Order: sequence, then C-alpha cells, then structure tokens
Amino acid sequence: MAHANPSTGPLPPSGLTLEPGMPICQTDLPLDWYQDEFKPYAEEYQALPDRTPETVFPWLDRHVRPALDHFGDSLLLLAHYYMGGEIVKLIERYGGAVSDSYALALQAAHNPEKKIIVESAVHFMAEAVSILAHDDQQVWITNPKAGCTMEMLAKDHMVMPIADQLIERYGDDIMVIAYMNTSGRLKALAGATGGAACTSSNAHLVVDWARKQNKKVLFVPDQHLGRNTAWKLGMDLNKLATLPDPQVHGAGYSLTDGTIDGGVEALDKAEMILWGAYCGVHTIFSTAMVSWWQARGWKVLVHPESPLEAVQAADGAGSTDYLWKAAMAARRGDKIVIGTEGHFVRNAAAEASKRGVKIKHLADIPDPRFGMASCGCATMSRNDPPHLAGMLDLLRRGEAPDINRVIAGDSVDEITARRDRLSGEEQAELIRDAKLSLERMISITEANS
Ligand code: SF4
Repeated sequence: MAHANPSTGPLPPSGLTLEPGMPICQTDLPLDWYQDEFKPYAEEYQALPDRTPETVFPWLDRHVRPALDHFGDSLLLLAHYYMGGEIVKLIERYGGAVSDSYALALQAAHNPEKKIIVESAVHFMAEAVSILAHDDQQVWITNPKAGCTMEMLAKDHMVMPIADQLIERYGDDIMVIAYMNTSGRLKALAGATGGAACTSSNAHLVVDWARKQNKKVLFVPDQHLGRNTAWKLGMDLNKLATLPDPQVHGAGYSLTDGTIDGGVEALDKAEMILWGAYCGVHTIFSTAMVSWWQARGWKVLVHPESPLEAVQAADGAGSTDYLWKAAMAARRGDKIVIGTEGHFVRNAAAEASKRGVKIKHLADIPDPRFGMASCGCATMSRNDPPHLAGMLDLLRRGEAPDINRVIAGDSVDEITARRDRLSGEEQAELIRDAKLSLERMISITEANS
C-alpha cells in the first residue's frame, strides 16, 4: 500500500488509541517460527496470563524502555497501518510513527539524526527506507520473514528474464514502472530503463508521464493496480497485455512459446504490459460484494489493488491514505464499507465509531453465500510484540542478528529469511538506479500537485 506526499516530514500521530482492558489482539505465532535469538522473548510472552495492555505493557517495558534510554533520540520506530492487532498502537506508545509505505520510506532521509531505524512491517517497506537512508543510518526489520505476498510473486529472478526479453524486443521504447511493493532490485530496473516508481495514489500520474513520451510500459508487480490505472486514465483496455500468473509459470517461459495470452502480437500492440502478480488480500473483492452493501444503503470504497470490476462498481477507490481520510471525514450517521486490509478497517471502524460513523469490511457479509470473513495481511502480522521486544533488546546489547539488518539490494527468501546481499559496487549501482526511480516519481507528483 502506498501514498505519495512528497513533503512528508516527521509523521503526525495516527490518533489511534489503546483502551485499557482491550486485548492486544495479536495471534500468537508457533514458537518454531521465531529465530533462535527471539525464542526467549516469545516464550516469556506466551507465558503471560493474557494479552491485555495491563499485562503486556509491563513485560514489554522491561525490554523496550532500556533500549529507548540507551539509544535516545537516535532511535526511530516505524510501523505500517496494516500491522495486525494493536502493534501500531504499541509503536506509537514508544514514540514511533505509523503510516503508509511511501511516507515510511522517507522517514530515514527526513530524520538524519535517527541512526537506528527499526521497522515493524514487510521487507520491501524496510528496504525502501534503506534505499533513501543516509550512510550512517542502519535499518532493521523486526521479522525478516515478513514479506509482501505480491512482492514475493515478482522476485527479481522471476521478472528479470522476462524484462530482458522485452527490452531486447522493444529497446528504448519500453520502460519499467515499479509500484512501491517491489524490491529495490526492481525499483533499480525501473530507474535504469528510464522509468519510475509509483504509489497507488500517483500511479495514474506516472503512467500518464510515460505515455506522453510514447513509451510502452512494463508495469510491475500488481496487475490490478496497472489495469485500474489504465481505466482511470481512459486508456483502451484492449491495449493491455497481462503476463501469466507468476505463481503458475514463474519466469520459465519465453515471449514466443505460446505461454502469454495473445502471444507476441498482444505484446506488440500493448500500450502497457502488466506483470501477473496480485495481492491475496485484495483480489477477493467482487462486484457481488459491492452490490450487496450498496443495496442496503452503504457507501463502498475500495483500494485499487482490487479487481477492476469491483473498483468500477464501488462509490470510490483510492490509496490507504485516501481510505483513512474518507473514514475520518465521514459524518455522524454515515455508513461506509471499505475493501482493503482487515486490520486497517478494524482500526478505522474503532476510531470512526467514536463519532457515530459505521464502518464495515467489504468481505464481512452476514450471508453464507459469500462464505468469507475480512482478510488481514498475514505476513505483515508476523511482526508481533516478542519481535519488537527482542529486536530492541538485542540491538541494545549489541547482539542483533545480521539477518534482521536491511540493506538496499538484499534479496530475501521469506521462508528461510536467508539474504542474498550484493557486493559494495553492485549495491552502489542499485541504490543509484533505485533512487532515480523514486526521485522521478517525486518530481512527477510534485509537478502535478
Ligand atoms: S496487504 Fe497485500 S500488498 Fe499489502 S503488504 Fe500485505 S500482501 Fe502486500
């Protein structure tokens, strides 16, 4: 999820509150999911009698407060809006910042006095912080196994062989546009091909900028955001080509072997070629769900990672920031259904209910024909209180595992947490190209604001 606000400085508090007695609703992870260094913290946490703030805070404070005292102003804690349970509120309790991925990415660059940055989110978000960080700033992730499933369907070893074939066929006439939910390696590919990064709120500006240069676009990784952006811009949807589902085909095909729908002819006539990845959380939304709520007087808003048909049927679509602001600006008596990540909707509903606004999740339909409940980002929720306590305590003691350190260009296997780290020279080149893609995005957005 991402939103562009190029002037983002220190983040304001989200306004979320943690009520006394309210459980810290983080589902406990199995003990063998923790790195060895983190298991003692998980064991302590799991032995607590309950998950209420009254019980969890004193335990958490024992590990977190000494680290806060030790690092002082040089420490910056960050979390994403979609973090499961109340972890976002814990981050704010300790003076950290909660936002969407774009605003988070800028936090190191905009706060040079912060030398140790600890992020509770998914890997691409922490890597984006690292790309824009100053040389003397270190970025750490509380759980290196927390990956974005959409980004995991567009690893560089999957995209590069196809991108290489496209570049060979179209030369300088094609550029890559990389959504924020990509690794640094793909952002660097965008930069190197003359393209740019984008967020869900500025994708239309970035694609429009590419079209004005008469460039064919390879849009990675989210096919839905790419398609919704084309629709928003009024493009001919027949001039989109969608590459095969990477979960089925990986990159083990050539442009000419018949795997691609419509073959090379479809690619040749395409204005935009969409990588076939998607977010499992958002692809479930359907027009039937939208209609069900609208028929009962609810206004429906969805995130543009949802399928085109759901976006077209909804009353509005936009980034995480758009959805949050719409929820907070609603008036007493308003009834809004939101189609996006479940934890976000739950937090928005809790805040809005204080003002007499009703908010529900699009998939939370009390009708057995729909048969599904609201969907949270499970991988992001792998950052839980024991990971936060452990990361800060291990950093303070100088014993933090290198596998939790996030360096631009790292490719991470989210199953094993193994990192493939670039050499110094490769890394400098990657940072240069990835920064270029982010800087282009910022200047395109600023020129249109
Ligand atoms: S909600 Fe979807 S796109 Fe966002 S981080 Fe989770 S898996 Fe990735």
